[in-house]
Amino acid sequence: MSEPLERADVAIVGGGMAGASLALMLAHFCPQLRVVLLEQRALPDAAASVLLPSFDTRATAIAAGSLQLFQQLGLWPALRAYSAPIQRIQVSDRGQAFGACLSAGEQPWACFEGMLGAVIENAALGPILHTALADTPVKPIAPAQVTTVRMGAEGATLHWRAGEGGAEHRLTAGLLVVADGVDSPLCRQLGIEIDTVKYQQQALVTTVGLQRHHRGVAFERFTAAGPMALLPLPQRDGLYRAALVWACGQEDAEALSALPERERLQQVQRAFGWRAGRFVRMGSLQAYPLSLSLAREQWRRNVALIGNCAHFLHPVAGQGFNLTLRDCYGLAQAMAGERPAQGSSSQLEMLAAYGRGRRLDQRLTIGFSHRIPALFTASNPLLRSVRQMGMLGLTLVPPLRTEFVRQAAGFGL
Ligand SMILES: Cc1cc2nc3c(=O)[nH]c(=O)nc-3n(C[C@H](O)[C@H](O)[C@H](O)COP(=O)(O)OP(=O)(O)OC[C@H]3O[C@@H](n4cnc5c(N)ncnc54)[C@H](O)[C@@H]3O)c2cc1C
Repeated sequence: MSEPLERADVAIVGGGMAGASLALMLAHFCPQLRVVLLEQRALPDAAASVLLPSFDTRATAIAAGSLQLFQQLGLWPALRAYSAPIQRIQVSDRGQAFGACLSAGEQPWACFEGMLGAVIENAALGPILHTALADTPVKPIAPAQVTTVRMGAEGATLHWRAGEGGAEHRLTAGLLVVADGVDSPLCRQLGIEIDTVKYQQQALVTTVGLQRHHRGVAFERFTAAGPMALLPLPQRDGLYRAALVWACGQEDAEALSALPERERLQQVQRAFGWRAGRFVRMGSLQAYPLSLSLAREQWRRNVALIGNCAHFLHPVAGQGFNLTLRDCYGLAQAMAGERPAQGSSSQLEMLAAYGRGRRLDQRLTIGFSHRIPALFTASNPLLRSVRQMGMLGLTLVPPLRTEFVRQAAGFGL
């Protein structure tokens, strides 16, 4: 037997990094809206005892532009306490002496509080977002698994359950925001097609202990097996730390994962080189299959898509969440001051304007995230020369440096 129908202006399905960020932006910029957030798992608490998929052992590089957005939401003091600043970005090719270095000092316009960005562990980011959300009028419902969605004259009607065999509840919203992650079941239900290119690579993710302080340097290193990012992390228990993301082929990933810690450490050190000094420890490895996926529609009548279900990018350039934050900001700005009636022409105009406003940034960012690893993975001698020329260009040509930093720091548009 269904419960009585509950109503909301906006129902966000998925309380990961995308859904939680959008909920915070709507609370801040659109206080007139009744917003409900449904998440199938228990929400992370302040003690971070519960982990959502977004808030696992990964760390996220948050670009200066995104830090500015978090500052507007009043979240920067909480984030600062758990993050390490990025002062410099070093891009280099293993086996080549030559590399490019971009520093906060020479690009002050691309900085937030003197940094190009900051790195925060997802296990800290989750509780910060959800603790902040608890102070807003947004209504979180968790655990709440949305099982079916029906579109009708009233908007989207969602059916959800708190768990297997639990009672079914219903909720109707003028706007359904799908934020249920990559390979989205809700997109499938809605018949929204997603184009996917599989990279035939896995991202191996771990935390590395360093013998010396990272001095705020984020490394983009291109190795024979695939691109690597080494991101500064805050010191913990007296240990200097960095987050490692290494995109490599399935066989390399399996072989590395099977090694005992000491040999794994040596192999990663050999592949990365010595630019960050000696690696002294290494956490367990987690593997994420890599693909580029892009939804063919990011909005339609009564529906918008946010986060991994809208676009899932190669992680080495650290752009996915930053792009999502800019999407969230764009959607919140489009809805500010409005309470669009479900399916009305003004709602459609609002969504269309949102889509138009996000198109160029998405195209540039997705292109940047797709091309950089492809170029740097190539062993073809011609492409090797092209990337060495690219590195030389980054070093010697100020407009190229500016463009690279603009994109990396999230000030693309
Ligand atoms: C290895 C790696 C490293 C990365 N590093 C960076 C980086 O440095 N910088 C950067 O900008 N980006 C980075 N990213 C990208 C970033 O992680 C994503 O942008 C982010 O995870 C987006 O999360 P999401 O909320 O869209 O999806 P998810 O984290 O998958 O969240 C979806 C949520 O929806 C819930 N859900 C699913 N189905 C239902 C349902 N039916 N009912 C209710 N709830 C449901 C799930 O439980 C989950 O909590 C990285 C990605 C990877 C893979």
